Amino acid sequence: MDSRSISDALIKSDPHEVYHLAAMSFVGVSFNQPLYTGNVTGFGVVRVLEEIKKFNKKIKFYQASSSELYGNEESAIKNETTPFRPASPYAIAKLYGYWMVNLYREGYGMYATNGILFNHESPIRGLEFVTRKVSNGAAKISLGLSKNLYLGNLSAKRDWGYAPEYVEGMWMMLQQNNPDDFVLATNELHSVRELAEEACKIAGISISKIKSSKDYFRPCDVEDLKGDNTKARKKLGWKPKTKFKKLVKIMVEKDIDRWQRWLKGEYFPWDAGTSGEDSFVLHRGQE
Ligand code: GDP
Repeated sequence: MDSRSISDALIKSDPHEVYHLAAMSFVGVSFNQPLYTGNVTGFGVVRVLEEIKKFNKKIKFYQASSSELYGNEESAIKNETTPFRPASPYAIAKLYGYWMVNLYREGYGMYATNGILFNHESPIRGLEFVTRKVSNGAAKISLGLSKNLYLGNLSAKRDWGYAPEYVEGMWMMLQQNNPDDFVLATNELHSVRELAEEACKIAGISISKIKSSKDYFRPCDVEDLKGDNTKARKKLGWKPKTKFKKLVKIMVEKDIDRWQRWLKGEYFPWDAGTSGEDSFVLHRGQE
C-alpha cells in the first residue's frame, strides 16, 4: 500500500524483472474485508506499475492474475479468451489489476504480463487454503494430535497444480519477445471431497474423520474452475508435471514428517501466525 517503499525497493535492487505476487489473497476473508482487499489486491497493482513507469519503463512486470477472475462463468474450461465473471471481492479486485496491466502494456508500451494461474499448491501453502488444511489435518489425525477435520463445501472442484512448476511458468512468461497473457493449469478437475479421500488414504485414516460444517461455507462460492493450458504449452513450452494424486502425496507426507519432527521438539517458525489454531508454534504453547 506504500508507494514510497515500492520506489525504494526499485532503487535498491535496480531489477530487470518484477514479480508482483503481493495481495490479500484469501477469497474467503475478502468477503469480510472488501475495502482492504480492493486497496491491496486492486490498487496495489497500479502502485507498483506507476513506480516502474517512473523509474525504468524497460523493467519486465509479471502480475499474479487468477483463475478466480472467471468466477461463475459457465464454460467447462477456461482459457485466455474466456470472459470473466468474478464472484468475490478478491476476484473483483484482481480484475481491476488485470485490466490495468493491459492498459500499461498498450498505453505505455511496457512489458507487462498477466499470468492467469489456476490453484497452485505446495507444502508451504498457507493453512487457510483447503489443500494445506486437508494435508495438515490428515497428518495430525494420523498421529493422534487431532480428532476430526471440519471443512466447508465438499463438492467444489478445482484444478490443482504444483506451485514450483507454476513459478517456472511465470519466469518463462517474462522471457518472451513480446508481453502477453497466459493461463497455467493442469486441465484436470477434482473435488474437495476427492482431495479429502486421497489425503485420508495416504495418511491411513478413515474418511469419517473429515466432516463438513456450515461455518466454512462462503456467501458465494465458485463451484468449479478448470483451465486450458494450450497457449502456454504452445508458446512457452510449459507443461505441468505433477498431477493431483502426486501433489496430495507430497503435501500429506511433508505434513506428517513435520508433525513427527515437532513431536521430537523441532520448531517451525514459518507457520507461526498463518492460522492461529493450527499454527505449529501455538500448539507447542498448548502442550
Ligand atoms: P480458492 O480457490 O482460491 O478459493 O482456494 P481455497 O483453497 O481457499 O478454496 C478452494 C475451494 O475449496 C473453495 O470452493 C472452497 O469453498 C472449498 N472449501 C471447502 N472447505 C474449505 C475449507 O475448509 N477451507 C477453504 N479454504 N476452502 C474450502
